[in-house]
Amino acid sequence: MEFVLFDQLTLQQQRSKIKTRVCRLWESTIPKQKNEIISLECLLIDEKGSSMQDVLGSIATICPISYTYVGHELTPIRNMEIKDLEDNTFPVTLWDKFAMEFDENIIYEKEAAGPVVIIFASMSVRMYKEKLYLSTCSASRFYINLDIPEVTTFRNTLDRSQLPIAPIKHIEAAQQLTISPYEQMLKNRKTVAELLALNPMEAENTNYTCQAKLVEIDTTYKWWYKACYDCKGEVKDYDGTFWCNQCGKNDQSPVPWYKLNAIVADETSSANFTIFGKTAQDLIRVPAQQLAIAINSNKFILPPIIKNVLHGEF
Ligand SMILES: [Zn+2]
Repeated sequence: MEFVLFDQLTLQQQRSKIKTRVCRLWESTIPKQKNEIISLECLLIDEKGSSMQDVLGSIATICPISYTYVGHELTPIRNMEIKDLEDNTFPVTLWDKFAMEFDENIIYEKEAAGPVVIIFASMSVRMYKEKLYLSTCSASRFYINLDIPEVTTFRNTLDRSQLPIAPIKHIEAAQQLTISPYEQMLKNRKTVAELLALNPMEAENTNYTCQAKLVEIDTTYKWWYKACYDCKGEVKDYDGTFWCNQCGKNDQSPVPWYKLNAIVADETSSANFTIFGKTAQDLIRVPAQQLAIAINSNKFILPPIIKNVLHGEF
């Protein structure tokens, strides 16, 4: 069997043979039980010099744990940022058990003694729009203030640079750093054909993403409707006021709300998607109210500004 290099390794390969040098070896312990070794860790390097992606930096920002669906599983995630020696920050997403294991109280305790240096081992590293995004995968590990030469060197360089040391930013739940656009974009990615083939019972409560072309918007059933001020359901005129099926009689004036019957397609198939309210507004960048009250506006004729988004890939 031929040896393969690290950068040729993929998840699909089984029983690959690698030739590697162990460039660092250390015992990993639980912070409060120094005597109990939980594992023996090592960094590997191959003859071409590529290593598994390990990242070292000081902790700059910590967000609280939030939850997101991965398939059917409500999964904990924690966003944070680390800083390199040039004061650049990089977003890091800790998934699942890593989000739970990361104890922010311990970090704040350690911060009293200076910047907290974290090493992420075997991370998934992605470039998206010229920015680097790090996230954990099942093989990842992280280590806080590890007593190894690399960490000492990092600290010494930080000291010498005399950059002002900012305290770790603690982000409140409400102003969470959002999950990186790259992660968001690829979450539960499906083709149009795969979406059509989904079992509706199974797909319930799950969000999927799909990249497809917006081919046409069908206006047979109008491109906007009069929405209930409270629940955005469709309202009907009723005895001088309005009637909403959800909320009943409603005196508040209804609001024009987008309902675009879109036909989308990729190379696998085409399908009808209904794009409502805010989502449509994000796409068109103009509120439905504004277009609906425009002179010559017609519920059954698409305004030119909406036509502009046709044929785009989303
Ligand atoms: Zn309502």
